[in-house]
Amino acid sequence: MPGDRPTCGSLLAAESSRPAGRLPLARWTLPSLSPARTPAKVISFLAAVLHKKGTREDIENNMPEFLLKSMKKDPSSTARKMFLIVAPLSVLYNWKDELDTWGYFRVIVLHGSKKDSELIRLKQKRCEIALTTYETLRLCLEELNSLEWSAVIVDEAHRIKNPKARVTEVMKAVKCKVRIGLTGTILQNNMKELWCVMDWAVPGLLGSRIHFKKQFSDPVEHGQRHTATKRELATGRKAMHRLAKKMSGWFLRRTKTLIKGQLPKKEDRMVYCSLTDFQKAVYQTVLETEDVALILTSSQPCTCGSGQKRRKCCYKTNSQGDTVKTLCLSYLTVLQKVANHVALLQAASTSKHQETLTKRICSQVFSRFPDFVQKSKDAAFETLSDPKYSGKMKVLQQLLNHFRKHRDKVLLFSFSTKLLDVLQQYCMASGLDYRRLDGSTKSEERLKIVKEFNSSQDVNICLVSTM
Ligand SMILES: [Zn+2]
Repeated sequence: MPGDRPTCGSLLAAESSRPAGRLPLARWTLPSLSPARTPAKVISFLAAVLHKKGTREDIENNMPEFLLKSMKKDPSSTARKMFLIVAPLSVLYNWKDELDTWGYFRVIVLHGSKKDSELIRLKQKRCEIALTTYETLRLCLEELNSLEWSAVIVDEAHRIKNPKARVTEVMKAVKCKVRIGLTGTILQNNMKELWCVMDWAVPGLLGSRIHFKKQFSDPVEHGQRHTATKRELATGRKAMHRLAKKMSGWFLRRTKTLIKGQLPKKEDRMVYCSLTDFQKAVYQTVLETEDVALILTSSQPCTCGSGQKRRKCCYKTNSQGDTVKTLCLSYLTVLQKVANHVALLQAASTSKHQETLTKRICSQVFSRFPDFVQKSKDAAFETLSDPKYSGKMKVLQQLLNHFRKHRDKVLLFSFSTKLLDVLQQYCMASGLDYRRLDGSTKSEERLKIVKEFNSSQDVNICLVSTM
């Protein structure tokens, strides 16, 4: 990030996307309680270059020109620089919120239905900062390129990692020399991606792709092979050194250790949950199916006496024509679901084939548990949220009771939205006030939910999909 000299492009990489932290720029001192992370660093930078003072004066300076004149202020002193911030939609309103929290900026959000009217305001230069998404940038590229930007700041810049991708083409077409990229992804692990992002931020810094491959990525990668000779090792190290030197003026890495003292202590615990009796019974039933028998005996010599393995001779497929290999993968998924929560068997699968297969397995397995099938039909998920159906739920129930007593806040993550449905049902049944964030939550809603969760005494649990 720029200190005293003007930049034209840089990359700010932060470990673990958004650590909390104190801000590095002296001119604009923000409280150390700052909840914010990488955006806060950018915001303090913007405040500095826009000569913000953090006082009432900023608000006055933000007034329309004619009012400034009437106050005998020189409007030209506020002749504005304009900055463009591009962020994924999921964090767009976070940016707006952070900007509003930490300073008096004139911000325009360029997104959605109000896009066209906001573009007009933008062309009249009635803002200091324009916030937009990758998608809107693509749609309005020409209009945005007709304006003069002091800098463009791109959040989650690792999206610009593929030279051939549309998003890269669009980002490279943005007419602005000062480009700042932010990312929480470690780019150094993939040289090709690193080149692509750096070539966007500082065009030409690392040379052409071919040059880069020859000079840096090949030697480094050869040096990393475990069969590398001493010579290759040395060449690799030298190349790495040269690369680090080349990037040092443009690449700023911030790791968690910098702010370690300000973060609450973290404790990781892994809890093993045993299956409930119901799960064990279902698991056992799956194991007893003909398909699983076919899989388990597939390496044995064939019964026909050919001397071949069964799976390569007379027992290549089951009666439905599924091969042993397909079945093997499918049944692993099925068992995994049973171990998590039997209700997951009813969730839609990724492929049509898998779904038909799961349905067949379900009808086979559940014919032994008519009680469960009837219940899940009658009351949808209500019965399924009963912890007796899942060992994990039993453990979770105890944990939640514990946290509830201590009025702790709980974020509950799951990979599966189906499982979130079950958990949601459980929360309702137990009278817990909860919130939920998943792929279907609207971006405007997200911030509201997060704020409610953070500020309300009553909302102690938030269900979050990791997808
Ligand atoms: Zn055979």
